[in-house]
Amino acid sequence: MKGTVFNIQRLSIHDGPSIRTAVFFKGCPLRCAWCHNPEGLSAAPVLSLCADKCIGCRACEAVCARGVHSFSDGAHAAERTQCISCGACAESCPSGALEIYGKEYTVDEIVKAVIRDKPFYRDGGGATLTGGEPLAQGEFAVALAKALKENGVGVCVETSGYAKQTVIQDIAPYTDLFLFDIKETDEERHLRYTGVGMEKIYKNLYRLNELGANIILRCPIIPGVNNRREHFDGIAALASGLNGVKEIHLEPYHPMGIEKNLRIGRKAAYENTAFMDPDEIAGWSDYLKKRTEIPVFVMGAKKKRSGWSRKLYKNMNTPAVCLLESVLRAFAFDDAITLFCALSSS
Ligand code: SF4
Ligand code: SF4
Repeated sequence: MKGTVFNIQRLSIHDGPSIRTAVFFKGCPLRCAWCHNPEGLSAAPVLSLCADKCIGCRACEAVCARGVHSFSDGAHAAERTQCISCGACAESCPSGALEIYGKEYTVDEIVKAVIRDKPFYRDGGGATLTGGEPLAQGEFAVALAKALKENGVGVCVETSGYAKQTVIQDIAPYTDLFLFDIKETDEERHLRYTGVGMEKIYKNLYRLNELGANIILRCPIIPGVNNRREHFDGIAALASGLNGVKEIHLEPYHPMGIEKNLRIGRKAAYENTAFMDPDEIAGWSDYLKKRTEIPVFVMGAKKKRSGWSRKLYKNMNTPAVCLLESVLRAFAFDDAITLFCALSSS
């Protein structure tokens, strides 16, 4: 059995407790307007072009038999309708400007990749199945979760909850923690902004609760969409009725999805380029804390960098740094670089 995954992110600190390996599944049945992982939406592999990294060598144009890449006045265009995601251009690109998001793996291949990080897991670290929607590839997700547990790796599943209930039930015994998204608490708005209704999601959440699962509710705050008192009242009411909910995580909107959409030739439906005001975030956190006994945390708020860390991080996407990274990886400094990148972006 094989599953399609678009990234295996080592040493992640944003996808569950402690240090984790995040396995990003391709395909999602939702279409959230603010999606920050649009490369995971389609079930099929997709070509990504990062114009900032392109050094204009035109190696991609030379190898692509489908005529996807063209150059005019130094600008690189990609005619994606002709692309069959064969990956030849990405392989030939010296600067890492091109990537194919989506590759088939067996369960064993992913387990092997994940357990490389085992020495770094402590205080509840492990693997997180995320995406996309991992439960959209239900049979594969269950087999992977089971195999990870058999190899002594803790498992988190990050889900929109929009999945077959049989899959939810099958994966629950192999899952230590569900990171369960609650994007909207108003049915009409949920449908408008995500493309699906809430009924199936709520049924699955209640079922997990009945099964005794540990659940963290992950609630994005999206300005102009759900930053309303009624929504936070709804989260408090929902969480307070479920004894499996251990924490509520608020996730302030960030605009990184806009650039990712451009790279895969897609236009973001929600084009807000601003990071959220920290005072507003704190305000909603306080508002929710007053309405529930369940601990509330704000995740991923922007941190101030200083000195060398800020300079280096700022320069990380330049062609020179990308080339340097490729060379160092070729000399097998892989673990050290990955750990450094994880710490730099923390
Ligand atoms: S992935 Fe293949 S078909 Fe698509 S642009 Fe690259 S070389 Fe051409
Ligand atoms: S750097 Fe990569 S994307 Fe840019 S022209 Fe060369 S091969 Fe193509």
